[in-house]
Amino acid sequence: MPPRSRRLYLKARRRRHNKIGICIFDLTPVWQDGGFFVFTGRLYRSVNTAAARGSMSEKFDLVVIGGGSGGVRAARVSAQLGAKVAIVEEYRYGGTCVIRGCVPKKLFVYASRFGDLFDVAPSFGWTVDASFDWPTLLANKDKEIDRLERIYETLLDGSGVTIFKARAKVTGPNAVELSTGEQLEAERILIATGGAPFKPDIEGSDLGITSNEAFHLQSLPRTILIEGGGYIAVEFATIFAGLGVDTTLVYRRDRILRGFDHDVRDGLEDALRERGVRFRYGYHISKLRKDGEGVCVSFSHGEEATFDAVMFATGRHPNTGDLGLDTAGVQLDQTGAVVVDEYSRSSVPSIYAVGDVTGRAALTPVAIREGAAFAQTVYNNTPTTVPYHLIPTAVFSEPEIGTVGMSEEDAAERYRSIDVYLTRFRPMMNTLSDRQEKMMLKLITETDTGRILGCHILGPGAGEMIQLVAIPLGMGGTMADFNHTIAVHPTAAEELVTFKSPSYRVVDGEKCNP
Ligand SMILES: Cc1cc2nc3c(=O)[nH]c(=O)nc-3n(C[C@H](O)[C@H](O)[C@H](O)COP(=O)(O)OP(=O)(O)OC[C@H]3O[C@@H](n4cnc5c(N)ncnc54)[C@H](O)[C@@H]3O)c2cc1C
Repeated sequence: MPPRSRRLYLKARRRRHNKIGICIFDLTPVWQDGGFFVFTGRLYRSVNTAAARGSMSEKFDLVVIGGGSGGVRAARVSAQLGAKVAIVEEYRYGGTCVIRGCVPKKLFVYASRFGDLFDVAPSFGWTVDASFDWPTLLANKDKEIDRLERIYETLLDGSGVTIFKARAKVTGPNAVELSTGEQLEAERILIATGGAPFKPDIEGSDLGITSNEAFHLQSLPRTILIEGGGYIAVEFATIFAGLGVDTTLVYRRDRILRGFDHDVRDGLEDALRERGVRFRYGYHISKLRKDGEGVCVSFSHGEEATFDAVMFATGRHPNTGDLGLDTAGVQLDQTGAVVVDEYSRSSVPSIYAVGDVTGRAALTPVAIREGAAFAQTVYNNTPTTVPYHLIPTAVFSEPEIGTVGMSEEDAAERYRSIDVYLTRFRPMMNTLSDRQEKMMLKLITETDTGRILGCHILGPGAGEMIQLVAIPLGMGGTMADFNHTIAVHPTAAEELVTFKSPSYRVVDGEKCNP
């Protein structure tokens, strides 16, 4: 019989605050080769001694609700600036990005890309006999997520933040109640509860999954239908198709990735079609019912089809349900997002909100920036805002997208005359094989000044490239600055600094020769 899990209470001096506190660890027995057990520990909670003695309500300068990207950054920076901070997380520290978003998704994307490498490998002289094992990927992904979660907890603890694992509810402008019964008093409360995927309100929707469940599927389906046209839908279509799943995407509009530059949207759709993804536009799923081992889908135009799995990537709700914000008088918008000012302050002066729960830009680096800006504003007397006008972003589809600044459509609407520099070519990696997929790089400038307004890349490494292009864009860089830069050869990115002349000009919305 393996030994039972145990709880270990350790009295420790908090490094930063030099106070005696108690750390509580959950210890799990793990079987070792050689026939013995060791206990591996995970921090369950760190408390200060007052709370440990059982005082009714613990007082903090700041209580952060939500241990995701925004909440953790705000808690750590605030504590480092001297505030007495508590953080409460109901699920797992790291939040959506680490536990069921960016990180596991990118790991899956890496897994799905090996097929392409194996395809071109023979043209480089390699013989590859490859097979794929889904459970191995899941287990290794879970191990990595566990490791990252522990790092998040350690960083919080190391910054002197008191960690709670519970569901929190706001009970007043300065009061938070935990599902464990504990009451926290706070000079300020920060709502960083993020968002959650939702399924459409249709018959049988329980038979569908969302991105949350996609990370834990027992086995890889043979066929999948993904509903949605945003980046999560497109990335999962890439993942499943890359792993050999027969993938169909259904979207009620006429094209994927609304708001992205049209060349990127068209280019990606063509490439995904080449990779076997089917697109069904102009209708949606209206009903699901069980069909043997699969799910029978009724579409809004009357057709029916059966798939092994159905995934909804139809959007995310801000996590404000049953959070008690109405009791405290916090204003929400019609989507349920917390309404905040430029310093993330809500309609109640002691309550702030950062990250996805505010419905501003649902991206990890934005949530992190908002968390840090909040701490600087409130605890360092340095009012700090976030530059929302220039957010570089990537879509980890195959091929990948990197984008920053205005799309051609936006730029043409805002400026009388713009120049467009556009190139399409086969990446060098493909040239020894018969793979025809092309890469695309596009720069949009204001004709009069040459200022770069937007950059859009479709192809390998686009996400990495766009991070760097965002720097000159933020500095007001011009085409002359790009042309002045010496190229790195042979790379795809060198195309950005070797454009000779615009491909075309758009004046008053009309395309013409430059
Ligand atoms: C599939 C997927 C892929 C993504 N990929 C990317 C990407 O590649 N790049 C990128 O920049 N962004 C990506 N995102 C978005 C990114 O994950 C979010 O923007 C980011 O996590 C938001 O951080 P946050 O702090 O606002 O919220 P979250 O990270 O969601 O954290 C909120 C936390 O609050 C907790 N919580 C909620 N209610 C309570 C309560 N009442 N009490 C206690 N705790 C509570 C939740 O359990 C959660 O851990 C992706 C998202 C998804 C779903």
